[in-house]
Amino acid sequence: METELLRPLPTPMTPEAMPYWEGLREGKLMLPKCDDCAKTFFFPRISCPHCHSRNVGWMQASGKGTLYSFQIAHRALNPNFKIPPPYILAMVELEEGPRLMSNLINIEADPAIVKIGMAVEVVYEKQNDEVTIPLFQPAT
Ligand SMILES: [Zn+2]
Repeated sequence: METELLRPLPTPMTPEAMPYWEGLREGKLMLPKCDDCAKTFFFPRISCPHCHSRNVGWMQASGKGTLYSFQIAHRALNPNFKIPPPYILAMVELEEGPRLMSNLINIEADPAIVKIGMAVEVVYEKQNDEVTIPLFQPAT
């Protein structure tokens, strides 16, 4: 029997996103990078959102970034999320530029403590054999 999951999980299916999911399983945060304009982006897709090139490759992100925006959730709006509130919804701006939605963990969910612009780093949280998700914590 599997342990109860705290959140609904994605089903990695689309080929253009597989390097992202495979990287997370190996403890790497992989970002799509355009081979023509050299910009990174997120989420994974078949063409570059900056120049529309289809020459999309991958690079390993440092896992470091800053807290771009956040919200403290005092209750789950979706009953499928069973993370005990309060928890922190975070928009993280990676060092490489792209922003992604995640949770900020290992810090008290208190607006007097959580600060926009604070340095954060990725933490890999394995959900099952297929899915590992990137969460973030204050940079050590
Ligand atoms: Zn491009």
